[in-house]
Amino acid sequence: MPAPITKLSDRFADYTLQIKCRKCGHVRTTEPHVLAKFLGWETPLTTVAERMRRSKCQARGECELTAINTPKPRSYRRAR
Ligand SMILES: [Zn+2]
Repeated sequence: MPAPITKLSDRFADYTLQIKCRKCGHVRTTEPHVLAKFLGWETPLTTVAERMRRSKCQARGECELTAINTPKPRSYRRAR
């Protein structure tokens, strides 16, 4: 199992962040690049979660961040 991602720059930002609101259950995904632009690459995910605010339900600090591995596009395809 790869090392857990603790800050935005981990794993060369080669992942997708899933943000889940604990309050309303809304789930969305974002790229670490987007968050790093505002918060900086050295920001721990825990801080990111605290900073996230859902515009819909105004819940603050209720976001759960999960790093998802983004499947790399294959450079080759299996021959049929
Ligand atoms: Zn919400």
